[in-house]
Amino acid sequence: MAEDVAMDSAPGDSAPGDSAAPARDARPVALAIGAHPDDIEFHFAGTLLLLADAGWSVHCINLSGGDCGSMVTDNAATRAIRAAEGRAAAALLGATFHESLADDLMIFYEERLLRRLAAVVRRARPRIVLTHALVDYMEDHANTGRLAVTAAFVRGMPNFRTDPPIDPVAGDVTVYHAMPHGLRDPLRQPVVPHLFVDTGSVHERKRRALAAHASQKDWLDATQGMDSYLASCDRMSAAIGSLSGRYAFAEGWRRHLHLGLAARDGDPLADALGPARCHAHPDSPLLLEI
Ligand SMILES: [Zn+2]
Repeated sequence: MAEDVAMDSAPGDSAPGDSAAPARDARPVALAIGAHPDDIEFHFAGTLLLLADAGWSVHCINLSGGDCGSMVTDNAATRAIRAAEGRAAAALLGATFHESLADDLMIFYEERLLRRLAAVVRRARPRIVLTHALVDYMEDHANTGRLAVTAAFVRGMPNFRTDPPIDPVAGDVTVYHAMPHGLRDPLRQPVVPHLFVDTGSVHERKRRALAAHASQKDWLDATQGMDSYLASCDRMSAAIGSLSGRYAFAEGWRRHLHLGLAARDGDPLADALGPARCHAHPDSPLLLEI
């Protein structure tokens, strides 16, 4: 679905009050907010492919352009290489690609980045936001998760100014957090997902999207001991599949509390994929009505 890719110019991505804007895509939107180029392909891509197959419009943004991800090219060259790889990966996912907003290790929970990410959320108008765990192996990941939650939280607040200014939008949004890298928190405690998504039917497509990040093979070999990033993706997907007790390959999600994000609790990801494609962990926390 490469022909569906629009570079940061989704339908409705117009200036406020632009009456000549094209009609908005009527499909529900899932927005994936990752920290670095390749994170979405590692952790979210199977779920995004299934949502796209189910008729959803999917959008991707990597907050960092990935400028530190090389042993041989400088920051600017690396940023350019990785932007091209990110676009290619998004094309393989059938996703709208939004430009990065920061540099590696510079993803902080701060005003400038929050205002810019909030503009992306208002433009995309997601029903579902997929992002990192709030506690993860890298601060960039944890801060991305926090920024994503607040950017969704302020989507309808008229007095919160985005950069660039985009009119507030109405509607519920549900935020899901991916499994942390390594499937554990930084203090080694195992993390259990609320929802398991069966990604077996799209695993090869997920691998092809990850393989679009060709520059990362040598980098991850050298710096993180990942003998093959594709093999790491296989192992992680298979490990979550094993946790699920049902699937060969899976992705796991934890659902953010709905307060401030949706009028009432709901699980649009489970609803969109249906029981043939996902199931809740038996110990998934239930909410008491307050
Ligand atoms: Zn990352």
